Amino acid sequence: MARYIGPTCRMCRREGAKLFLKGLRCSSEKCSFSRRSYSPGQHGRNKRIKVSDYGLQLREKQKVKRIYGVLERQFRKYFHDAARAKGVTGELLLQMLERRLDNVVFRCGFAASLAQGRQFVRYGHVLVEGRKVDIPSYQVSAGEKIQLRGKVTLIKLIKENLEVTKDRIVPPWLKVDAANLKAETIALPARGDVPFSVQEQLIVELYSK
Ligand code: SF4
Repeated sequence: MARYIGPTCRMCRREGAKLFLKGLRCSSEKCSFSRRSYSPGQHGRNKRIKVSDYGLQLREKQKVKRIYGVLERQFRKYFHDAARAKGVTGELLLQMLERRLDNVVFRCGFAASLAQGRQFVRYGHVLVEGRKVDIPSYQVSAGEKIQLRGKVTLIKLIKENLEVTKDRIVPPWLKVDAANLKAETIALPARGDVPFSVQEQLIVELYSK
């Protein structure tokens, strides 16, 4: 599956918000957005453009895509699946993104960032119900058991991540057993479990044109 490989911090600056794409490293003083909170590019500092409704919708969509590390084609597919399903489209879209296996590994604190969570999954370090699942977009279901496995150095890294994130609030739909590197999805994520501010209605309006 294709993924964005350009400069990460540039995306935060483009969206005008800290998106925490580098996970734990985003809290450091080196955060690009904290130092230069204007758009990237030669004229970024002087940009004063009145943003249209379309512009607002586009930026909201780009922001969510970037937070979850999803490219346009896959994001659009999530939207179409959400639109076809029964329920509120915007909420279902966010729920699908939250249910991605790479996101779950990150939310549980096993990985320092979503990108690292994705790497753990891709390299076969994540078991779901005892079976290796190496597809980052795998949708977890309620009641599934997740376990991380790997060589000594990897286990050490995961434990370090858990130690650093131990004060972070784990979403209520996940139960983490840090000592055994296990987790369980006790429910599906609700709208209130999305840990950042998003106006999903803008995305629905954009794709509904
Ligand atoms: Fe964004 Fe700052 Fe993290 Fe870079 S370090 S990804 S600018 S929040």
